[in-house]
Amino acid sequence: MEPTRWYGAYVFDMDGTIYLGDELLPTAAQTLARIRERGIPVRFLSNNPTKAPGQYLEKLANLGLPAELSEIVNTLVTTTGWLKRHRGDAVVFPIGEPPLKRALAEAGIAMSEDPAKIDIVLASYDRSFEYRKLQIAFDALWFHKRAVLMSTNPDKFCPFPGGRGEPDCASIVAAIEACTGVKCERTFGKPSALMVQVIMDSLDVAAADAVMVGDRLMTDIAMGRLAGMDAALVLTGDSRAEDVADVAAELRPTHILERLSDLLPEA
Ligand SMILES: [Mg+2]
Repeated sequence: MEPTRWYGAYVFDMDGTIYLGDELLPTAAQTLARIRERGIPVRFLSNNPTKAPGQYLEKLANLGLPAELSEIVNTLVTTTGWLKRHRGDAVVFPIGEPPLKRALAEAGIAMSEDPAKIDIVLASYDRSFEYRKLQIAFDALWFHKRAVLMSTNPDKFCPFPGGRGEPDCASIVAAIEACTGVKCERTFGKPSALMVQVIMDSLDVAAADAVMVGDRLMTDIAMGRLAGMDAALVLTGDSRAEDVADVAAELRPTHILERLSDLLPEA
């Protein structure tokens, strides 16, 4: 089940795959170094929209992993990238934290809290969520009936090391859907095809020649397989080898790895 070839591009989930919390996972540094030696392109993914890509760059650097800003793709990158390309004229109401609002502003996306002007209610992982924001979303979606609902990422909760976690974007989407009856029509995080599309657009590599590496079957692995990539499940995070049997055959990982270094063929 371990790869015997080099891929044309390596796409890595970060938490649970490269590091766990603030700890680098064993063999991650040497694995990345061997890929870098060959000049093979690398991308680092996260569904978390509460951090700017530069913060991930800093985190990777602090763990001893040099990277480029263009290699970091989180849901701020995919959300603003899609909006700019497809709905550049839309007025957005972001229910999110300052990094999301900054990213939208930098992308030139108009924002408003006036329900009569809002075209897109953009739900996100927002630890300052409150009734006032729900009311604006309600008015834009249900009363004015002009807006649509999108979300940065589909996660129910964000897990922390040690077993705790925080309610994530799906809980805010659910609150808005419950009062308006309007369904979220688009999300920009794993396992959405939109995320993989943004990544592949930035790489000069066919999907069949790229591998998605992650610790979660239903997000990382499912997304890679649906996009026509090979996918490697690394058993250092969320999913266990025995969970694979519960997944539909077409969504199963191509490779199952005990440690990240098993991703690469022998020297
Ligand atoms: Mg992960």
